[in-house]
Amino acid sequence: MTAAPRVVVVGGGLSGLTAAYQLSLDLPDAQVTVLEASAAPGGALHTVDFPSGPMELGAEAFIGRRPEASALVAELGLADSLRHPGTLGSAILTGGRVVAMPPGTLMGLPSDVDALSEVLGPAERAVAAREVDLPLAWEPGSDVSLGDLVAERFGPAVVARLVDPMLGGVYAARSSGLGLRQVVPGLAQALDRGAPSLTAAARELTATRTPGPVFAALDGGYRVLVDALVAASGARIRTRTRCTSLRRGADGYAVAVHADSGPSVERADLVVVAVPVPHAAPLLTAAGGLDAGDPSLSGIRTASSAVVALEIDRSAALPERSGILVATDEPVPYKAMTFTSRKWPHLDTRPGHLVRVSFGRLDDDEVLRSDDAALTRMAETGLGELCGSEPTVLHSRVRRWTDALAEIGPGHDARIAAVRAELADRLPGVELVGGATEGVGVPACIGSARAAARRLATKWQD
Ligand SMILES: Cc1cc2nc3c(=O)[nH]c(=O)nc-3n(C[C@H](O)[C@H](O)[C@H](O)COP(=O)(O)OP(=O)(O)OC[C@H]3O[C@@H](n4cnc5c(N)ncnc54)[C@H](O)[C@@H]3O)c2cc1C
Repeated sequence: MTAAPRVVVVGGGLSGLTAAYQLSLDLPDAQVTVLEASAAPGGALHTVDFPSGPMELGAEAFIGRRPEASALVAELGLADSLRHPGTLGSAILTGGRVVAMPPGTLMGLPSDVDALSEVLGPAERAVAAREVDLPLAWEPGSDVSLGDLVAERFGPAVVARLVDPMLGGVYAARSSGLGLRQVVPGLAQALDRGAPSLTAAARELTATRTPGPVFAALDGGYRVLVDALVAASGARIRTRTRCTSLRRGADGYAVAVHADSGPSVERADLVVVAVPVPHAAPLLTAAGGLDAGDPSLSGIRTASSAVVALEIDRSAALPERSGILVATDEPVPYKAMTFTSRKWPHLDTRPGHLVRVSFGRLDDDEVLRSDDAALTRMAETGLGELCGSEPTVLHSRVRRWTDALAEIGPGHDARIAAVRAELADRLPGVELVGGATEGVGVPACIGSARAAARRLATKWQD
C-alpha cells in the first residue's frame, strides 16, 4: 500500500468529522476530503446566533459519564469550555399537570413504585407494584423490546407517562421499537447477572449511581467542537457537495459528487460513509456492498423531528424546572420543552429566557406537516399554558430534522455486525459509521467513528 491514502468521508456531521480527525492521527499523511451536502459541517450539531448569543437548534448536550465525548473534548483542548447543568430537576406533563419526575427512576423505569403517586392512579400503581413479584424469564445475553417488556410487567401507563417521555427526546421513537440492551445497557447487564425483576435491576443501578452531573455541554455551543474537529483533522471540507454514488474499481473507489459547480468524481482508497440510514443504505447497496432488498440496514426506521428555539421576555413565569417531558397520552402537540437558560447556569445570563420546544415522534409526526409559523405558534401557546400567560417572544428559529434519528431495535448489535461483515467482504476499505451503527447520541457517534477510522488505518498499514 502507498504511504498516503486518499480518503473520502461522506457526510460532515459529528461522525464524519470525528472519523476525519482520527484518520489524521493514525494516518497523518492521508489526504482526507469530507463531502457535506449542506452549507456547513456539523449535521445535527447546529449552533446558531441569537442576538443575545449562541443557541443550539440540534443536539444540546452529551452524557458526560460516558468516556467518548469527554475524552475527545479534552483531547481537542476544549476541557475549559465544559459546562454542567444546575440543580433544577425535570418534570412531566401528565393529566394537564406539571409534576416532578419521580425520584429513583432509570430512563423512566421505576425503582420505587410508591414514588409514582403523581403520575399513576391507584389502580395503575397497584399493577406496577406487582412487577417485583412477577416471574421473569430472562435469557442472559438476549435482547427484547424495552417498551413491550415494561408494559407487560409494569403496565402501559408506566410506558406512556415515564419511559416514552424520557426516551422521546433522545431517540424520537417509542420504547416499543427500541432494544433494551442498546438503550439501557446497564439494565440488560443487571438482568444478565440474575436480577429477579426490573424493579430489582433498577434498584441496583439507581443505588450505585455516581453522584455529580450526568450531562455536559460546551460554552459557545457545539459549534466550538465542530470548528475544533475541522481544524484538527486538517481535512479538505467540501460543503454543498452531495455524494451521489460509490463505485469500486481497479484503482480504489470512485465517489461521484454533485456540487454547485456540477458533477465530478473523487478518487479514494478508503471511504467512510457517515450519513443517516436513508442515504447510507441506497449508497452502499448500489455500490454492491449489500444485496438489494436486504433489510439489515434499509430496514432501520428513522424519526423526524423539529425544534423551535425561543428567547422570551423574562417577565414570563417559566416553571422552576430544567424542562418538561410530555406523557404520550397528553393532548398537546409538542413532546418536550427544555428551559435552556434555567437548565444551564452559564446561559442564564441572557436578557431573556432561552427555551427549546421539540415536536415529532416516530409514527406520530403529523404535526411536522405544519409550517414553521404554525410550529412557532404552537410552541408559544404551549408555553403560555405553562406560564399562565403567553410570553413575549424576543427571538425565534425553527429547525427541522428529517430522518435524523434511527430506531435502535432489539438485536441491533447483531444486525450491524452482519452489515459490517458484508461490507468488509464486498467493499474492503469502506466503513459505515453514525447514529444507526453503535447507537444514537454524541458519545456513541464519536466512539463509532473513532473505532472505524482505527480499523481503516490498521488495515491500510498491514
Ligand atoms: C434535534 C436533535 C437533538 C439531539 N440532541 C442530542 C443531545 O442533546 N445529546 C446527544 O448526545 N445527542 C443528541 N442528538 C443526536 C446526535 O446529535 C446525533 O446522533 C449525531 O450528531 C449524529 O451525527 P452524524 O454525523 O452521525 O449524523 P448527522 O449529524 O446527521 O450528519 C450527517 C451529515 O451528512 C450529510 N449528508 C447526508 N447525505 C449526504 C450525501 N449524500 N452526501 C454528503 N453529505 C450528506 C448531512 O447533511 C449531515 O450534515 C440529537 C439529534 C437531533 C436531531
